[in-house]
Amino acid sequence: MDSYLKFRNVRGTKDLLPEEAELWRWVEEVIRKKMEDYNYQELRFPTFELTELFKKSTGEDTDIVQKEMFTFKDKGGRSLTLKPEGTPSVVRMYLQYGLYNRGILQKFYYIERMFRQEKPQRGRYREFRQFGAEAIGSPSPETDAELVRSALDIFNELNIHGIKLNINSIGCPKCREKFIREFKKFLCSRLDSLCNDCKRRYSTNPMRILDCKIDREKLIDVPVPLDYLCDDCRKHFSGFKERLGYLGINYSIDKHLVRGLDYYTKTVFEFTHSKLGTKDEVGGGGRYDGLIGFLGGDETPASGYAVGLDRLLLLSPQRKESRGIDVYVITLDKASDLTGWKLVNELRDSGFSADKDPLGRSMKAQFREADRQNAKWAIVIGEKEREGGSVQLKRMETGEQKEVPLNITTIKEELKC
Ligand code: AMP
Repeated sequence: MDSYLKFRNVRGTKDLLPEEAELWRWVEEVIRKKMEDYNYQELRFPTFELTELFKKSTGEDTDIVQKEMFTFKDKGGRSLTLKPEGTPSVVRMYLQYGLYNRGILQKFYYIERMFRQEKPQRGRYREFRQFGAEAIGSPSPETDAELVRSALDIFNELNIHGIKLNINSIGCPKCREKFIREFKKFLCSRLDSLCNDCKRRYSTNPMRILDCKIDREKLIDVPVPLDYLCDDCRKHFSGFKERLGYLGINYSIDKHLVRGLDYYTKTVFEFTHSKLGTKDEVGGGGRYDGLIGFLGGDETPASGYAVGLDRLLLLSPQRKESRGIDVYVITLDKASDLTGWKLVNELRDSGFSADKDPLGRSMKAQFREADRQNAKWAIVIGEKEREGGSVQLKRMETGEQKEVPLNITTIKEELKC
């Protein structure tokens, strides 16, 4: 078959086979349930947006906007971009639909596909999935701690252990001014030794130099935002740490953590796992108190995070036993086949998952299929049963078998046992 194969999925995209799709679906169910337990509501948004939205909110000088966006022109000449992250769309919807009118605090989550033109490798794709949460309207560090806890709760529910939390505060525009001054002064004489991206960032967005993976070693002694926080930001960070403490959440402070996006203020955090190697980040987020005002809304505090589902899935979430189907109906001759088929459809109408063999295969082959389908029950119908108006009901796990009347009400009762 392989030699005839003309088409394969494009590099950097991922196909999900049924067993993977089932795992993903379960992961998504866990996320939905947990986020709703935390009183977050789901938002769904389009695959593409005006390019300008990402330029303005993600930031002109970020790797995403500079190098990674899938941007194209539509027939009317407008520049559109496949969404590389969720926050800009959530904020756009918040403003476009006046969601602030629904109450001072609005909490949203999403599970969406994202697109970035990165070099594909393990854990890094061009089309990938993220779930994210955004709490808009609260300036409180309690909200930041709640967000962190919701993500950790989800990891826990998926039986993923060993995820580390790193936190930092990058201050507000007020304290950042002083930090940037000192930071630039310090780097001025060392600029030549930095990578080209950092040289450019020195004038466009110097704070981003701090989390450069290439220059990390050279930046060990640089001034860091945490040492320049104003009183308000220092108190906020203490409040955040205190809340994490109350919740029994362990964390490390990473003074170099600034996160890749321009809009963060005060709290930033990331989740990492050593099993993921150099690209060890599973997710991250922080506070973005300036973004909503910057995009044209009233100044509104906000905080959020995003977690990469593809990377999360590499950490082998342990799901409960595969569900399988409820009933596999096995028929032993042509006349029983129609009876069996009707029964399958009655079972489906009654809320059971049910199936049968449409190929007229032997009893042995049908039982093998029932096993393969992980069926809880097999119902066998042959000439004897048909004539006696009954079926054989077999519990697959124990092999226990009994004869019951061919009557959907009775069968339904038996299946509930
Ligand atoms: P970011 O939006 O850059 O903060 O990324 C949040 C999370 O999304 C990361 O921690 C990753 O888990 C995931 N992520 C980002 N880019 C990719 C990618 N190209 N492929 C797979 N996952 C990604």
